[in-house]
Amino acid sequence: MTDLTHQVEEVAHLIADAKRVLVFTGAGVSTESGIPDFRGTDGIWQKYDPEDFTIQKFLSDKQVRKVQWQLLSTGDLSMSKIQPNPTHFAITELENMGKLYGVVTQNVDGLHQKAGVSREKVFQLHGDLSHAVCLGCGHRYPMDMVAEWLNQGMEDPACYLCMGMLKPDAVLFGEQLPIKVLMESERRSRKCDVCVVLGSTLSVYPACLIPQYAAQAGASLVIINMGPTELDHLAHIRIEGKAGDITTKIIRRVKARLEDEHD
Ligand code: NAD
Repeated sequence: MTDLTHQVEEVAHLIADAKRVLVFTGAGVSTESGIPDFRGTDGIWQKYDPEDFTIQKFLSDKQVRKVQWQLLSTGDLSMSKIQPNPTHFAITELENMGKLYGVVTQNVDGLHQKAGVSREKVFQLHGDLSHAVCLGCGHRYPMDMVAEWLNQGMEDPACYLCMGMLKPDAVLFGEQLPIKVLMESERRSRKCDVCVVLGSTLSVYPACLIPQYAAQAGASLVIINMGPTELDHLAHIRIEGKAGDITTKIIRRVKARLEDEHD
C-alpha cells in the first residue's frame, strides 16, 4: 500500500464508523471549478491588495467599490457560470449516505448547494455572492442582475427602491460574520465525530476556530490541502494533495466499506 492509499483507507474507516461528519471548506475546494483562491500560487492576493477589501474602504472610496464590483460580478470571482467539481459532489455523496452533519464553508460561491447538498446543511460563514444587498433598506438583488447593470456601464450600483448603496452580500474584512450561522457552526463543531477540512490554509479568523473546536471536543480532525495549514499540528490525518482526486477516492472506499458491512 502506498502512503496515500493507506491514508485514504484510514479516513474512509473514520467516516464509515462516524454518525456525524462535519466538513469545513475553503477556497481550495473551488479552484478545480476555476475560481482562484486567495493565498495559493495563483491566488487573488497576487493581483489585488487585501487592504482594499475592508468594509471601511468599500464605504468611503468609490474607486475601490468599482474594482470590487468588477472582480465580484464579472471578473475573477464572478460565480454565475461556475460549476461544482468532484470535491463538491463527494460531499453531496456523504449526505446521500446519511453521514453529513453539515458543511461549514468560508466560500461565497454557492457551489455546495449547486452540487445538491441540502440548503439547511450549508453554513456560509462569509456570506453569499449570489446576491447584492442594499445598505439602506436591506433589499437583496440577484448578482446576475447587478452584473447586467455593470455590463451596461453602471460603475457604482444603487438601490432602485431607496437609492441606498449596494454591497455584494459577502463579508468584507472588518465586517461581522452572520451570527446565527456562526453559532450553529460552532454548535455542530462540538458535536461532530469527524471534522474534515478541505482546501483551506485555516488562517482566517474566526472561521478557522471551527475545526479547532471540533478537535478540542474530541472529534477526529482530517486535513486535506495542497500546502501547509495553521492546524496541521492538531490533525489526526493530514493528506497533502488535490481535494478532487482524494475525496473521490475516499468516498469510493467509504461506499465499499458500508457495502461490506451490509453483506
Ligand atoms: P486560502 O486561499 O487561504 O487557502 C486555500 C488553500 O487551498 C491553499 O493552501 C491552497 O494551496 C489550497 N488549494 C488550492 N487548490 C486546491 C485543491 N485543488 N485541493 C486542495 N487544496 C487546494 O483560502 P481560505 O482558507 O478559504 O481563506 C480565504 C478566504 O477566501 C475565505 O475567507 C473565503 O471567504 C475567501 N474566498 C472564497 C472563494 C470562493 O468562494 N470560492 C474564493 C477565493 C477566496
